[in-house]
Amino acid sequence: MNKFFEITEIDQYDEPRTGGLKECLDNWKSQERFLFVSPHDDDAVLGGGLMMQAALDAGAEVNLLIVTDGSMGYCSLEEKDTIARIRKAESFESYKKIGLPAENIAWMGIPDCRVNLYRGKIPADESEPGFMSGFTGLQNAFTYYLRKIRPTRIFVPTSADLHPDHKFVHEELLISIFHASESIWPELGSPYPAVDKVYEMGVYCDFPEMPDIQLKADESSLKTKMAAIREFKSQKQISSLIEIVEKNGPFEFFRRVEYELYQPIKYVNFFENLNNEVNYE
Ligand SMILES: [Zn+2]
Repeated sequence: MNKFFEITEIDQYDEPRTGGLKECLDNWKSQERFLFVSPHDDDAVLGGGLMMQAALDAGAEVNLLIVTDGSMGYCSLEEKDTIARIRKAESFESYKKIGLPAENIAWMGIPDCRVNLYRGKIPADESEPGFMSGFTGLQNAFTYYLRKIRPTRIFVPTSADLHPDHKFVHEELLISIFHASESIWPELGSPYPAVDKVYEMGVYCDFPEMPDIQLKADESSLKTKMAAIREFKSQKQISSLIEIVEKNGPFEFFRRVEYELYQPIKYVNFFENLNNEVNYE
């Protein structure tokens, strides 16, 4: 049976577009590579478990980058020292259900709930979590993985999520997209043009502004997503999130992140017009 995935995309200049991923996501390439950046292992499947399936169905390569080691996600004292290992095994089972090959999953190994301590690019030795090429830090690792994976589209939880790990990941990822596109830090690989297709996905909290993309799927894809989420058996604290995802049906929402480099001409025009108006009086 064919799977059903339908995108509705709102653009402020055009009529809403409805159709498949290829028709409705901007500038679809023959070799699409989606990258889901997941602050914790379960975030990507919660916010994008249908989009991952839709992307695979449309022939795109799907990659997953898990930022933290999950070491603070214990819900029983017995699991306090083993939870990181348990979650790693659960992640493989979860994303296997979605259809992701194990080799497309990478862990940055940043300590859970301490992401704030790993912002930037920090000289480090091999014993430090997240170590690569003489450094640790989110900007160091994101730059490396962006240059390695060379994604055409990136998905990340919104900047509005309450969890500080989510906020820092969002912020550090966006600046790293610029780092990765320049010749800075050559030990992390060759430059890759800045990715302008970055989408926020809802995980914990509402979007900071209205989302502009809806993905509608069928019940069987929702079932697959729910089964994948339930592989995170150790994560009992997300039970209310799981309930919400299931109750809301086979829908996911995304918001394009717009960022532009500083263009002084915009302000030149603004002030020029201001002067003209003053002269008229
Ligand atoms: Zn999370």
